[in-house]
Amino acid sequence: MFPILTRAQIERIAPHGRRRQIQRGEILIEAGEQITRFFVVTAGEAEVVRRSGAKEEIVAVERAGQFTGDTHMLSGRPSVLQIRAKEPGEVIELDRERLLALIQTDSELSEILLRAFILRRAGLIAEGFGDVLLVGSNHSQGTLRIKEFLTRNGHPYSYIDVERDSAVQDLLTRFRVGVKDVPVVICRGENVLRNPTNRQIADCLGFNEAIDQTEIRDLVVIGAGPSGLAAAVYGASEGLDVLVLETNAPGGQAGLSSRIENYLGFPTGISGQDLATAAYTQAQKFGAQMLIARGATKLMCDQTPYAVAVDSGPRVRARALIIATGAEYRRLAVENLSRFEGAGVYYGATFVEAQLCGGEEVVVVGGANSAGQAAVFLAGQSVKRVHMLVRGEGLTKSMSRYLIRRIEENPAIVLRTCTEIVGLEGNDHLRRVRWRENRSGNIETHDIGHVFVMLGAIPNTRWLDRCVVLDEKEFIKTGPDLSAEDLRAAHWPLTRAPYLLETSLPGIFAVGDVRSGNIKRVASAVGEGSIAVAFVHQVLRS
Ligand SMILES: Cc1cc2nc3c(=O)[nH]c(=O)nc-3n(C[C@H](O)[C@H](O)[C@H](O)COP(=O)(O)OP(=O)(O)OC[C@H]3O[C@@H](n4cnc5c(N)ncnc54)[C@H](O)[C@@H]3O)c2cc1C
Repeated sequence: MFPILTRAQIERIAPHGRRRQIQRGEILIEAGEQITRFFVVTAGEAEVVRRSGAKEEIVAVERAGQFTGDTHMLSGRPSVLQIRAKEPGEVIELDRERLLALIQTDSELSEILLRAFILRRAGLIAEGFGDVLLVGSNHSQGTLRIKEFLTRNGHPYSYIDVERDSAVQDLLTRFRVGVKDVPVVICRGENVLRNPTNRQIADCLGFNEAIDQTEIRDLVVIGAGPSGLAAAVYGASEGLDVLVLETNAPGGQAGLSSRIENYLGFPTGISGQDLATAAYTQAQKFGAQMLIARGATKLMCDQTPYAVAVDSGPRVRARALIIATGAEYRRLAVENLSRFEGAGVYYGATFVEAQLCGGEEVVVVGGANSAGQAAVFLAGQSVKRVHMLVRGEGLTKSMSRYLIRRIEENPAIVLRTCTEIVGLEGNDHLRRVRWRENRSGNIETHDIGHVFVMLGAIPNTRWLDRCVVLDEKEFIKTGPDLSAEDLRAAHWPLTRAPYLLETSLPGIFAVGDVRSGNIKRVASAVGEGSIAVAFVHQVLRS
């Protein structure tokens, strides 16, 4: 986390910045200030300080040869900690652009700096050393949403549960909020947000401050799941000016996956969150920029350069677009479902949800790979039993062989075929589940408070308002899947046929789960995102 650079490494950094003296107590970076400067200490000491009201805590001391920063250095987001000179001394100061250029060209320094940045951010998250306090309840959907949003954006936070912590009433009184206002987010000890949207949190924490939204970009990528992040990494690393729009947080559906075991190069598996964090950092290292909690709401397909309307922001314009908006989960056909979403009904099985189910029985609904993984993962956590409910007669048609074997061999998983949920009961939280065995018609009621719905997805294409040709299930048709009739109807204007992954509009590509015929896997999404960039170059050259 705090490596000491060699003299030779410091000498390679020095020409990119300026050496200057620092005085005792001088603030190098203020908490809440956008991180636009990077410091290597060459003499004296700098201390990293966590401030909370009048209280201060020294988190770390940087000595000669050490350097400041974490992953927020790459995005230019505000710092959660203050850095100040402890002793008089000397630093080399670089601005963010110079640092990014250095990271892209010096592989040895890139490895040392990025490793330290990522470990420091992970350390801040593990210690809850943030500038955000979340006051919520484990039984509230809003609390779960905010926890996931902060975690998936790599933002550390402290959490107080209104139902478990007796000191919480004092805190709420101090900020003049009632228990009915939870979840409450307190940003930097000042702004109090009552049940905020993700966008309000992103604004409060300055996630998007460093981005010029008015520029015409080479490439705008819409969606930051694996396919969009791959497009951003390849596009930015090959010199394109890339902006990514993301409705929620980087990682997409993969970010919800507790363990991806079939992604090439990770024999012991990798959590979706870790994969997303690494990909996001990688995209930023190459200079891709990302607007968080800012989704695309409309495509202006009759204009070139293409314009995309952004949720509560100016239109962004680009010479080429990659649509990587993935798909949304299928929901249970149960009348009062929405009452329990996030309060007992979940669409992802990660450590956040698993912590809520310790020692209890849970239900996983679905017969495909995501359901199988969830069942195996939850059975490996501290849950008592996993009831796996499948509408069909068995698993073989829809699930990978290795998962079926694990389910069959795990005594904590009970497979119930030809069975579906017909009722959910509870008050503020799910308490009971009713399911029907369709062969016999028998209905059973069980005291179970946690249901994981893993039923596949529908594409996020509504915002396109049929600007591009879709298939019968509303996935985007691309390349050779576009028939002559499709192209005629779409007024395809060129003599060449659409490139692989190109939609019915020239220069607009679709990749990953949103694309018709896509194989719904992380590897295929990543592959398509990177292949599309090769065709973007051809479009930009023409
Ligand atoms: C629980 C679970 C476990 C899985 N496990 C595995 C596995 O082990 N191995 C495997 O290979 N695959 C797995 N998958 C499938 C895999 O995650 C997907 O195939 C992959 O995530 C698809 O990537 P994508 O980028 O195309 O779409 P997504 O991951 O769906 O990402 C799309 C992104 O676009 C954003 N978005 C949507 N609309 C807009 C808009 N209008 N503007 C801006 N942004 C928008 C979304 O917020 C999202 O972040 C799993 C899926 C789930 C749900």
